[in-house]
Amino acid sequence: MMLEIISFMLQLGRMINLKILRILCEQIFPQICPGCDSNVLINNALLCQRCLLKLPRTDHFRSRADHADLFTNPGLVLSMSCSLLYFRKGGITQSILHEIKYKKNQKLALFMGRLIGKELKESPLFIEDAVLVPVPIHPKKLKIRGYNQSELIAEGISVELGIPVNKRILFRRMHSQSQTKMGRSERFENLTEVFTATFTETDDCSHLILIDDVITTGATCESCLAAIKKTNTDCKLSLITLAIALSG
Ligand SMILES: [Zn+2]
Repeated sequence: MMLEIISFMLQLGRMINLKILRILCEQIFPQICPGCDSNVLINNALLCQRCLLKLPRTDHFRSRADHADLFTNPGLVLSMSCSLLYFRKGGITQSILHEIKYKKNQKLALFMGRLIGKELKESPLFIEDAVLVPVPIHPKKLKIRGYNQSELIAEGISVELGIPVNKRILFRRMHSQSQTKMGRSERFENLTEVFTATFTETDDCSHLILIDDVITTGATCESCLAAIKKTNTDCKLSLITLAIALSG
């Protein structure tokens, strides 16, 4: 009995010390919100309350959105096609994506994935029997960054919905050439051979949801979806991205 009391007291002491240590760290090294770059984050928050309220959310999860107009192949039919946020140059979504991709803020990627998961839970469009497939990044980039942000977003969604993530289906074969000076169709051509899909006998591929961080021209997502469809024509396909760029 005495031993149990001592053990309990030690655990309590450790917890209190950790809390005090965390509060002290917050005072000495305040974390600044990556969304607005001004408010101090408290209690391990990843975005400040003001930014959370100001997120430029789409209504894609409530009404049937359609990214198909971005695609060159009219045969690509998607069951669901949604983005959580609108992306504007200089806006909060750009700050969030920058933090996720270049500042190694993996927790924020997971958190944003969980926000998508929460939207999906409430969405009349969502069919639970699905597998999440993140868009892969090239191994060289993976080595530099240390993680794939689309995988982390997918893992966040998975935590909320309890549906699996399959990182093995899609494979990026080579670096695409720089796309900045290419037109829309050239970009798609350039990516056509980059992605390949492979399935094992145990892979559940009745409904695959492609996950990406941001959709701009749609070329990368279309290329991934086409690669899956080419290998498995029976797959039901959907697309979910954290953000969608507004044209103009
Ligand atoms: Zn903020």
